Amino acid sequence: MYKLIDGKKISQEIKDELKEKAAAMKREGKARALAVIQVGDDPASSVYVGNKKKACDYVGIESQTYKLKEETTQEELLELVEKLNADDAVGGILVQLPLPSHINEYKVLTAISPDKDVDGFHPVNVGNLSIGRPGFVSCTPAGVIQLLKRSGIEIEGKECVIIGRSNIVGKPMAMLLLRENATVTVCHSKTKNLKEIAKRADILVAAVGRPKFVTADFVKEGAVVIDVGINRDQNNKLCGDVDFDSVAEHTSAITPVPGGVGPMTVAMLMYNCVEGFCI
Ligand code: NAP
Repeated sequence: MYKLIDGKKISQEIKDELKEKAAAMKREGKARALAVIQVGDDPASSVYVGNKKKACDYVGIESQTYKLKEETTQEELLELVEKLNADDAVGGILVQLPLPSHINEYKVLTAISPDKDVDGFHPVNVGNLSIGRPGFVSCTPAGVIQLLKRSGIEIEGKECVIIGRSNIVGKPMAMLLLRENATVTVCHSKTKNLKEIAKRADILVAAVGRPKFVTADFVKEGAVVIDVGINRDQNNKLCGDVDFDSVAEHTSAITPVPGGVGPMTVAMLMYNCVEGFCI
């Protein structure tokens, strides 16, 4: 019988712990705001921005939302980022992705001060993660580590395989698992013998972006499977990168979609806000 890793419950625990810390910071006059910038009206982005505001309200972090028109120029956006960088009342800055195609995402993300980069996307924070220095860490992979630890799953010495090498999930996931003393293999679209490699994993992390890509023949009996994917299946129903129905019975623990990694991303953003703001 496998254990279902409950991301909703664990993310709630984290937010409740942060609530106390945020209240203490307020009392001590150390609280600072999270500024969230959205350019354009992408409906998915509006939902994500709304969820971040809701989480801030719950934890007790002041949030400022900047909704800019689709036609906003790169210069105007960079001006706003610079203004927020210089504002001591603002402790964290987040630019909701994707940005409209006329704006250079890299230019904007690297304009955010690394000290306020609560998404952990700035090269300085990515570099700090690689060399084992403190800094902001990308929220989704940080959430995966919390899911494992808080479910009592040991990471040290384990063989971990990650499918996916994106800058926001796969690569930082590899660095975090290495930091926890796992032996890590990162796979991608050019990997040969993917199933054989995946089958070696004690902990298999799927961050592929393909609905139900990981089937039972990828999974060693008793492995832990973490599904980062958020996709729609042919019936437009939310599903992960793992074919849960065929895989779950072969695992010792697995995350569902929804209710697994998803809720952890916002919880870890709140963590970055509260912990980072204290530095
Ligand atoms: P991404 O940037 O598209 O990266 C996907 C990765 O999967 C790439 O490294 C790609 O390899 C690899 N890949 C694609 N097809 C493959 C194949 N057939 N075999 C092996 N590897 C393959 O996606 P992402 O941003 O990392 O996101 C991954 C998934 O996680 C998506 O479903 C996304 O919606 C979800 N997500 C969830 C959260 C959350 O909060 N839970 C946060 C972020 C992302 P190449 O590098 O060779 O192209």
